[in-house]
Amino acid sequence: MALVARRIGRLGTENAFTLGDDIRRCVDRGMEVIRFNLGAPDFRSAPHLNRVATAALEAGRSGYCDPAGILPFREAIADHVRRTRGVDAGPERVVVTPGAKPSIGYAVQTYADEGDEVVYPSPGFPIYESWVRFAGAVPVPLPLSPDRDFAFTADDLAPLLGERTRLVILCSPSNPTGGVLSRDDLAGIARLIRERCRPDVRIYSDEIYEQILFDGLEHESIASHPGMPERTVLAGGHSKGFAMTGWRLGWAVLPTPEEAAIFKRININVMSCVPPFLQEAGAAAYEDPASAVAVRRMVAEFERRRDWIVPALNEVPGVGCRTPKGAFYAFPDVSGLCARLGVYEACEEFHKGGRGRTTPAGMLQMFLLYRHGVATVERASFGRIGSEGQDFLRLSIANGMEDIRRGVGRIAEAAEDAEGFAEFADSEDAEAFCR
Ligand code: PLP
Repeated sequence: MALVARRIGRLGTENAFTLGDDIRRCVDRGMEVIRFNLGAPDFRSAPHLNRVATAALEAGRSGYCDPAGILPFREAIADHVRRTRGVDAGPERVVVTPGAKPSIGYAVQTYADEGDEVVYPSPGFPIYESWVRFAGAVPVPLPLSPDRDFAFTADDLAPLLGERTRLVILCSPSNPTGGVLSRDDLAGIARLIRERCRPDVRIYSDEIYEQILFDGLEHESIASHPGMPERTVLAGGHSKGFAMTGWRLGWAVLPTPEEAAIFKRININVMSCVPPFLQEAGAAAYEDPASAVAVRRMVAEFERRRDWIVPALNEVPGVGCRTPKGAFYAFPDVSGLCARLGVYEACEEFHKGGRGRTTPAGMLQMFLLYRHGVATVERASFGRIGSEGQDFLRLSIANGMEDIRRGVGRIAEAAEDAEGFAEFADSEDAEAFCR
């Protein structure tokens, strides 16, 4: 008998976090690492929100609370989605979760039985594929391409919909690509879903980056289109737009109160409730006009960094980077760099030796980290199925400008270091850490 259940073997991970061990190892060796890996704003949570949480804590609101979320926060969320998307949902359809991540797993477990199909964008947030596989559902990746700035239309989605489709996951603005779906794209997708899907097929719309858009673009949601609110699980939260990753504040607006009750029941089974004093600040984030000022300032800074990093990456030999329209990531194609450094040949040798499943971009990622002190995340970390032959790296620009400049400088140096790569590919480090 095996120690652990078979399903654990199907549970994926988020390499932006697992890379933390590699970074610590490098730091222990005396290296200084520039961390492009984690998608966490380098801004602090706003003082007006910190004050609300600490005052609530001082006032003793530190016990259990409603597992669906405290009513004032759920009302603030309902009001927020009404103002921003025209979705008319009362607080009985809102469930508060610790960050935006849990409701991905909640949705997959709620709607998809074993053998049911779940469509999700790829490259996309790794937790989609992880939960789909863990639940025994059938993963159906929707390939996104740089030629289309990582957007897609109903024509791309249509062939993936079938009798067994239960859930379609959308994410705009997108992690890791920065791709954004336009109002027209979403109108077409909504039309397709109305025409082709049974009413019980659900859309999971991950809108965690709703505030982070560039070039004057405004956020668009599938839930604003006819027939969609009654099919859409609309998910968002405070981690990215309000720079509150460690607070663990997220939410989902469900199509019906009955479905919200299921999410609430999963909350009860998993963690009982999100701390009430944090939720009070969560409500203030939507209600206090000071929040919009802080968000605008941060997004303008991300845009400034984007405007610097994209041309800078494109100057590195073998690197081709599209211009993201939202979120805070650059997602360059590094296949030219892999070719230049001899990564493809080294990766083939590596596999011949039966040493792990690393991709060429994965080897490049570890070379950049262990030899040049730059932490990035490779393409296969954002949905492995169907990712073969695609060599990209994700760089989070939620980092200070100085670090961004130095980090890109190090990548440019690495691009001239074929000898260093050859040494790395033969080293114990590659053996131990290319996974
Ligand atoms: N969805 C997407 C697309 C993300 O990029 C992230 C975080 O990186 C999450 C959900 C999870 O957000 P949270 O930290 O609020 O759980």
